[in-house]
Amino acid sequence: MNTIQIKDKRFTVSIKEEEILKEVSRVADEINRDLAGKNPLFLSVLNGSFMFTADLMKRITIPCEISFVKLASYQGVSSTGAVKEVIGINEDLSGRTVVIVEDIVDTGLTMQRLLDTLGTRGPKEIHIATLLVKPEKLKVDLNIEYAAMRIPNDFIVGYGLDYDGFGRNYKDIYTVVNE
Ligand code: 5GP
Repeated sequence: MNTIQIKDKRFTVSIKEEEILKEVSRVADEINRDLAGKNPLFLSVLNGSFMFTADLMKRITIPCEISFVKLASYQGVSSTGAVKEVIGINEDLSGRTVVIVEDIVDTGLTMQRLLDTLGTRGPKEIHIATLLVKPEKLKVDLNIEYAAMRIPNDFIVGYGLDYDGFGRNYKDIYTVVNE
């Protein structure tokens, strides 16, 4: 399937599953090497990172824990635009090595929000692991240690990422076709 149609948009395959898994394995190797002995707590940000999280965690061989958080729209206004509230943090983060597992860092505002929120709970260190980064769009200064792939500034779906709720189930990544 080289092109797919989701609602009003057409998408064409841009990163095949094989290539994705090669980069996910590389990131897992780096984490296994860097965080050995630290019993990291992986915090996967739903919904978009569910497929990345599953493939990444299958390749993590050091002792670790995994949990899931979600971002909910927050009733309020801020200077940075729509503020999202982080929900579902049930673990005690104090003194822990935390790894945030995200689908994509675009402007970086969502990641900044996560770092701010988690930072108030006393973790020893927080690392960022993301499937994708759009470097041209980054607005905040983030230390993204573990990025599987860097992509241009185009809208993508598949491998967990959606367009209006659809497209998360595809095993490859697709880029929107601008017609
Ligand atoms: P940021 O706060 O970094 O601008 O946005 C991050 C969030 O925007 C991601 O977690 C993801 O939900 C969404 N996002 C950004 N770029 C894309 C994209 O190309 N495709 C999809 N499906 N979602 C995206």
